[in-house]
Amino acid sequence: MRYLVTGGAGFVGSHVALALIEHGHHVTILDNLSTGHRAAIPTGAQFHEVDLLDTNRLNTILANGPWDGVLHFAALSLVGASMATPYHYLRQNMLTSLNLIEGCVRYNVPRFLFSSTAALFNNQGNTPLSEDSPINPGSPYGESKFLIERALNWAERIHGLRYGCLRYFNAAGADAKGRLGEDHQPETHLIPLALDSALGRRPPLKLFGNDYPTPDGTCIRDYVHVSDLAEAHILTLNRLDTGSVTYNLGTGQGFSNLNILKAIETVTGRELPWDWAPRREGDPAILVTDPTRIRTELGWQPRYTKIEDIIETAFRWRLAHPNGYRGL
Ligand code: UDP
Repeated sequence: MRYLVTGGAGFVGSHVALALIEHGHHVTILDNLSTGHRAAIPTGAQFHEVDLLDTNRLNTILANGPWDGVLHFAALSLVGASMATPYHYLRQNMLTSLNLIEGCVRYNVPRFLFSSTAALFNNQGNTPLSEDSPINPGSPYGESKFLIERALNWAERIHGLRYGCLRYFNAAGADAKGRLGEDHQPETHLIPLALDSALGRRPPLKLFGNDYPTPDGTCIRDYVHVSDLAEAHILTLNRLDTGSVTYNLGTGQGFSNLNILKAIETVTGRELPWDWAPRREGDPAILVTDPTRIRTELGWQPRYTKIEDIIETAFRWRLAHPNGYRGL
């Protein structure tokens, strides 16, 4: 199959592109490299440096098919930043996605797989979250992803586009063979920041909020290994021939931020320096999924079920790449 992968130079997109190639598919990556890295583009993928706001170039690429499907990862993706620049987040994520959806309809791309998020739930205590839990985004980022899910729903109802929405809980870890890893500039995610603090490469970690309604007062998240997440994309693509689907994608286990700090110390064998800091705006207290639907309908089984094993792959990549992808 021939797949177009937007955002394929980013963390999740690059791991999924690699999995597609390993399953024998042809992959063409579209990325504007605003947050992605040229060095993260897997060997064997074609690459176009293009912005999805550039509809002329986008449509030229879509016209140059046929494409069997589009996987859409390119997006602004930070909860905290979206609270500071809400209209930028809403505009950017929606315009780029609408351009892509409209182009897929125009050029008869039959399948669309969308990188959605658990951030469209703002959990008020009902946990774990199923696909049918109430949608109530806690941030413009989460809202933008929800609006794109709705746009896909209209593209199916009006034009018959088959789509899959995968609502990621917390993607973490790195390719087990060390070919790819996580490198955001600036980094805002708990595990890579905590690893660097433990390695003495950055100041003590700031832990955001100790007064959440959770047993230890810190937020609880459901971490899923990025390669397990990639396999879920392969399974979902195969499933789209029978209809559109929406799945929550996590392991179903919740870890508090303090649990994560402890696991970082176990994996690295080092003491992790950290301090309390105020809550980060937009953060829901608990995001943990009930993965029953994706497990039963697709037979998806995460290979990584222990948080230490997930962190260990991330740790090895950061040890080997102290500057991330820079200089590669
Ligand atoms: N977090 C933290 N300090 C940091 C970065 C993150 O305490 O420097 C917390 C954050 O507030 C949230 C959890 O770690 O409770 C996971 O945040 P992350 O940004 O990794 O993922 P998110 O859940 O926002 O997608």
